[in-house]
Amino acid sequence: MTRSLARSNAQFRRASTRLPLGVASNFRYWGDDRTIYIKRGRGGRIWDLDDNPYIDYRLGYGPAILGYADPRVDEAARQGMDIGGVFALSTEREFTVAERIAKMMPAAELVRFSNSGTEAVMAALRLARAYTGKESYVLVEGSYHGLFDAAMWLVALDDWDPSRTDREPAVMPYSQGVPEAVRPLVHLTPMNDANRLEDLLRRKSHEIAAMLIEPIMGNCCGITADIAYVRAVRELCDRYGVLLIIDEVKSGFRVARGGTQELMGVTADITTVAKAMANGYPIAAIGGREDIMRRYGRGVAHGGTYTAHSVALAAAEKTLEILDETAALETIAAYGRRLQAGIKRILDARGVVHCFAGHPSMGGLFFAATPPRDYRDWKRSDYSFYDALARELHEEGVLCEPDSREPWFICEAHDDSCLAETLAGFERAVDRTLE
Ligand code: PLP
Repeated sequence: MTRSLARSNAQFRRASTRLPLGVASNFRYWGDDRTIYIKRGRGGRIWDLDDNPYIDYRLGYGPAILGYADPRVDEAARQGMDIGGVFALSTEREFTVAERIAKMMPAAELVRFSNSGTEAVMAALRLARAYTGKESYVLVEGSYHGLFDAAMWLVALDDWDPSRTDREPAVMPYSQGVPEAVRPLVHLTPMNDANRLEDLLRRKSHEIAAMLIEPIMGNCCGITADIAYVRAVRELCDRYGVLLIIDEVKSGFRVARGGTQELMGVTADITTVAKAMANGYPIAAIGGREDIMRRYGRGVAHGGTYTAHSVALAAAEKTLEILDETAALETIAAYGRRLQAGIKRILDARGVVHCFAGHPSMGGLFFAATPPRDYRDWKRSDYSFYDALARELHEEGVLCEPDSREPWFICEAHDDSCLAETLAGFERAVDRTLE
């Protein structure tokens, strides 16, 4: 069976004449003959230009938490459109949305808005620097916090010998064009290793403003911090005068109303949220401790022409209301658990060793007996089976990210029929992958 991508392929050729790689974002390029162009989405499904249907577990990298074109949110967005767009002045909804965020996520005592996760994390880091008077920062290896220079650093494991305890792997930029001048400010630490973090902070805390962490790594297979680790991070940050920034851009309003902080019983100094908060409309927020957030207006710059755009804000107001006041998140988690149970039955019946990481609403599928504990673990693993399986799943109309680091996102519209079709397709895809 091969799905025709004739129209997508033609669109790729046309688009490539005007758009580098034929796309608007590098991550959307899947190869010259595999890049898909989408016609529309409804609920848990999307259709490409060739009218191939897909049950979509990417959900735009997470945002479409209620499903595509949710009528409740879209109607609210239309009302937001009616009031006019952007004014370079404030509207009443900023307060109501900030109130809702603070209720759902108590770490966000005060709130500012941004347009994207990147902008929110960038703002959070600047705020931490201003507050502490320090400039460098700690990132967890394998995490992704957006496209800005400070976040685009990787641990170089390819030519590193793990048996060498006397030498840490090098830090390298994700991208050309990231300035060398940033490198001395970056410290990387592996997830789930409090001793290493403590050692780093003992030596360098005089220069470190913040530690950034995604307790469930939404860009690395759902690798999950042990609760004891997150609590140790909190305690070490306090002890060494380092602010804790918890990046809930993917996990916020998804894994729980209060994100990973609610699940793990830890409170950040600054929190960033974005994707699930407006069901796909572009908005993000920075929330934090009052004394830190009040630095805005006392020397810390923050703004943006489109910040708190009336359409995105109205969509956020409705989406957060639904997530807070209905059982949507419980439904989503239950669908995720059912999907994982079904996948487990299929793989167990064929003797395929596997496990899940993360949370049922954003779960990583991993072909090993236990989930990776950090990026080094993930890097050492064999992901060729996942890669081959993902291709077969696409043939079946089950759309997961081809890169196994991206979890499977579940939405409220992934109903019984989506789950049943997914599992039937999964079974056939596994059998072909095993052939
Ligand atoms: N932080 C995390 C944890 C993310 O997953 C992402 C994007 O995937 C970002 C920040 C950047 O968000 P955006 O793509 O909206 O700029």
